[in-house]
Amino acid sequence: MADVQKIALVTGSSRGIGRGIAERLSRDGFHVVASATARENEALVRSFAEQGVAVDYIGLDISSEGDRAHALEWIREKYGRIDLLVNNAGVAPTVRADILETSRESFRRLMHINLEGCFFMCQLFANEMVRLVQAGTLPDYRPRIVNISSISAYTSSTSRGEYCISKAGISMCTKLFADRLAEYGIPVFEVRPGIILTDMTAGVREKYEKLIAEGVTPIRRFGRPEDVAACVSAAAGGDLDFATGQVLNADGGFHLRRL
Ligand code: NAP
Repeated sequence: MADVQKIALVTGSSRGIGRGIAERLSRDGFHVVASATARENEALVRSFAEQGVAVDYIGLDISSEGDRAHALEWIREKYGRIDLLVNNAGVAPTVRADILETSRESFRRLMHINLEGCFFMCQLFANEMVRLVQAGTLPDYRPRIVNISSISAYTSSTSRGEYCISKAGISMCTKLFADRLAEYGIPVFEVRPGIILTDMTAGVREKYEKLIAEGVTPIRRFGRPEDVAACVSAAAGGDLDFATGQVLNADGGFHLRRL
């Protein structure tokens, strides 16, 4: 990467996939702003540093309009630019419940965090990127957005329908922004993880281990955060720009239909 330090914001990077993405992007040459819901997280910054990764941290609950605005303002003041937004933060239902029993509370929580959070993060940072593109003051400024959805965007899991719907919404969100931002030269991509071993899947690890052993994914192992991070890195690097709106399936081949 050139002399200019490019700035990447990765939401939900305190652990799991987001952390893997932050580490990878840092190795790729980005200066990474890690973020999660805690207001401050010195321990996290230290643990990144122990792995040779220097990050800044900002508390950012993606479902909070105030937090979103504050994050943008903070980045604008500190760096004067944003080159990459990775919308990774997301939650699963607190309790898995059959769609015949889904509570409005859980439905609203998932839409509020996963879908509304992603959409308005895209909107806010897209406007900032457009502003910077139009200002024309940053040489070789080519910002990008990557949204992390899930195989649940198109796979039915009737015990967590609200999660599936929120992820399907993120897929459309990616298409919409890829379309709208194309005229400004701002590509938007979707990375669709499969079954990845993180805190989110820890509670159902045995169930997934069995499914994987039985061949639910052609590549018979759990995905790792670094598998997803490699796809984000590819999308962030610039080589895929003409393929804006493309989905990268980080899923061990789960999406392949088989007879
Ligand atoms: P995870 O281990 O549970 O980590 C979730 C991350 O999101 C944490 O850093 C968490 O931070 C943050 N977060 C939660 N609520 C937030 C909010 N309101 N605002 C900002 N940050 C928030 O999950 P993961 O498995 O790494 O998943 C990351 C993303 O990949 C999610 O969007 C998930 O849906 C998606 N995904 C995961 C899998 C999988 O198999 N694991 C598969 C497909 C897609 P704090 O709690 O510290 O604030």
